[in-house]
Amino acid sequence: MKHDDLSLATKLIHAGEIRPGVLGAVSLPIFQSATYEYAQAAHYHDIKYIRLNNTPNHTVLHAKLAALENAEAALVAASGMAAITTGILSVLTSGDRILAQESLYGGTHDFFTKHLAGFGIGYDFLDIEDPASWQGRLRPTTKAIYVETISNPLMQVPDLEAVVKFARAHGLVSMIDNTFATPVNFRPAEHGFDLSFHSATKYLNGHSDIVGGAVIGRADLVEKALLKLDTLGGSMDPHACFLLHRGLKTLALRVQFQNGSASRIARFLAGHPAVAKINYPGLENNPGFARASRLFDGFGGMLSFELKGGVEAAERFMKAVALPIIAPSLGGVETLMTRPATTSHLGMSPEDRKRIGIADGLIRLSVGIEATEDLIRDFERAARGVRS
Ligand code: PLP
Repeated sequence: MKHDDLSLATKLIHAGEIRPGVLGAVSLPIFQSATYEYAQAAHYHDIKYIRLNNTPNHTVLHAKLAALENAEAALVAASGMAAITTGILSVLTSGDRILAQESLYGGTHDFFTKHLAGFGIGYDFLDIEDPASWQGRLRPTTKAIYVETISNPLMQVPDLEAVVKFARAHGLVSMIDNTFATPVNFRPAEHGFDLSFHSATKYLNGHSDIVGGAVIGRADLVEKALLKLDTLGGSMDPHACFLLHRGLKTLALRVQFQNGSASRIARFLAGHPAVAKINYPGLENNPGFARASRLFDGFGGMLSFELKGGVEAAERFMKAVALPIIAPSLGGVETLMTRPATTSHLGMSPEDRKRIGIADGLIRLSVGIEATEDLIRDFERAARGVRS
């Protein structure tokens, strides 16, 4: 059966699967084998070996992930950072430069600011809200442009159509971290992006029990990333592949619920007198609202907010909530809450955080799949304590 005309929910179950199942098994078993019997492979990368990303657990995931974003190809990696760093290093080489949004996940920001120079690669941060200024940052050696669909932790939605247009006009490879949006809400290949990255640790797996990543996009670029990953060695273990595969099957159910729940929570917080500022692209007064409404199928399950009273109020609120677990990471079935200045963006200098707009008191919320009413009641009670 061809999968091109199936909806995403159906592809999550059926795309890429080995049918009939292995020895009749409905679920793909874990192929916990490091190596496979020699089969006269003509090329090194075709030898069946666990690091070369070609066990059945890898290849089934590759086909499914590509189908989910309507892209040509996909590749899984040992972590989101393995996917991002390997993907970037497969496109850029010594002497090249990359343009990027400055407000990024802390680990990615660190890679740009602290590690790229060691590879002889330069970067230039963009004023992402001002596409007219991008041309001024371009140099003859610029080869790529990098953004996040919904940025961590400020939930900015860059002008994604302008990014693709700019990349095409100047022969740049366009790259996007689609972790927060997920393929349920946004499929970068449909909008012309060349490569999309995911921390599969988050929504794709959805159960906060593995670390993993994915590179999805143009077949020629995914092939380059595969050859680089084979060599750098950041390959996903088959047991993690199995858990990711299992988690993916409920992605649409989870994310659609989380879209709805986060929207209701964002509206509740936006109207609460203890809240000073809220970042959620599904709120009409958010700068990304019109863009997100046009491009996305949902606004996502992530939001961030500041309370009146800064860090002290944030700490009191986080101690007072009963249901959210105070922990970094996101995208799981349980609601998680963190202060990015102390976790995901702790590696960024306080000056950089201040310039970008990441206040010390900013609270990031990853909405899980608990009943929305229970979460709102919990926040209402915790906010009452902050104000008294
Ligand atoms: N991209 C985003 C948006 C993230 O939030 C994270 C981790 O929090 C990563 C990438 C890195 O993923 P991993 O921890 O799986 O390496």
